[in-house]
Amino acid sequence: MFEFEVKQRDGRARTATFATPRGQVTTPMFMPVGTQGTVKGISPQELSDIGSQMVLANTYHLMLRPGEQLVEAHGGLPGFTAYPGPFLTDSGGFQVMSLGHLRKITEEGVVFKNHLDGSRVELTPERSIQVQEALGADVIMAFDECPPYPAERSYIQASLERTVRWLERCHTVKTREDQALFAIVQGGVHEDLRLQSLEATLPFATPGFAVGGLAVGESKEEMYPAVAFTASRLPENKPRYLMGVGHPEDLVAGIALGIDMFDCVYPTRTGRFGYALTDDGRLNLNSSAARTQLVPLDPECDCYACRHYTRAYLAHLLRAEEMLAPRMLSLHNLRYLHRLVERMRDAITQQHFQAWAAEWSQRYFRGSVPEWFRQALQQSAHPETP
Ligand SMILES: [Zn+2]
Repeated sequence: MFEFEVKQRDGRARTATFATPRGQVTTPMFMPVGTQGTVKGISPQELSDIGSQMVLANTYHLMLRPGEQLVEAHGGLPGFTAYPGPFLTDSGGFQVMSLGHLRKITEEGVVFKNHLDGSRVELTPERSIQVQEALGADVIMAFDECPPYPAERSYIQASLERTVRWLERCHTVKTREDQALFAIVQGGVHEDLRLQSLEATLPFATPGFAVGGLAVGESKEEMYPAVAFTASRLPENKPRYLMGVGHPEDLVAGIALGIDMFDCVYPTRTGRFGYALTDDGRLNLNSSAARTQLVPLDPECDCYACRHYTRAYLAHLLRAEEMLAPRMLSLHNLRYLHRLVERMRDAITQQHFQAWAAEWSQRYFRGSVPEWFRQALQQSAHPETP
């Protein structure tokens, strides 16, 4: 169980298979986010049809409503949601920090005010694992603190040391053998703190590791060196998960640097606002130009929306506030990211990933490829240099 087998490497980029109790997935992969136990507007059948493999659900939201016991009474998330494939749950930590009111962080855990009814709730490493065991995902996450950006260096250090102690507590209370507990490496954008977190976290030898604490407001110029530094020091034979990251350019740069798993609400959220992801950048269906365009969102896409509808029709639905519009834009955006990752897996298999990524970026960034992206591709081609 949880065997991770690297199939092909191309520079730092790699393809692999990851065995979970609910089936084997192929990495790199993008995981759609089903915050409330549903990927907003998209049915489980549609998720399977567009190539989704693993779906993420949020511990914080589900423990507050409807409560993990109700999910457990359905046999866990697959029975509750009718999505038959593997799931990953987060620890709840990140959302307590971002959504919980009047939170107080102590050595014991976090106390916060429930954003739904104002009641006092405590989330500890033990409680997080208990809830995640009831939710029954295949991959569960260690309870950590993701410090905000910017934060004092001394605070980031104290926080990462506490996160390691919390990891130990998660590790101790975990009872289910059929769930893989992933540890999370913190340390902000500071290399020495990342190294400290790595040295304390790697000995737990968990079945996978996440790079946490990034994409919280820092620039890409600060973020990607931290991704490169951390990913290159994680074990070769374990999956690496870059949490909460999922713009198209992030998937390409992350995969270049050896990341295997991603999740983000971006494709569905930006879809609900009327934007479509394409190789030419983000298309705005709210624009007056879109109202008369008799072409698909993305002529190269094979999703239901692109095979059946014109931009003009979808722009009309959007203006009329018809619910099919956000549904079809979300479906297309998820399919775009899955197809983007599939193309990268092919490029890695055929050993021309860096050339593929350079060509993709020329078109996506319209000729002005940012320096952070160029550097990620350069580092990708040289696996031996840290
Ligand atoms: Zn499409």
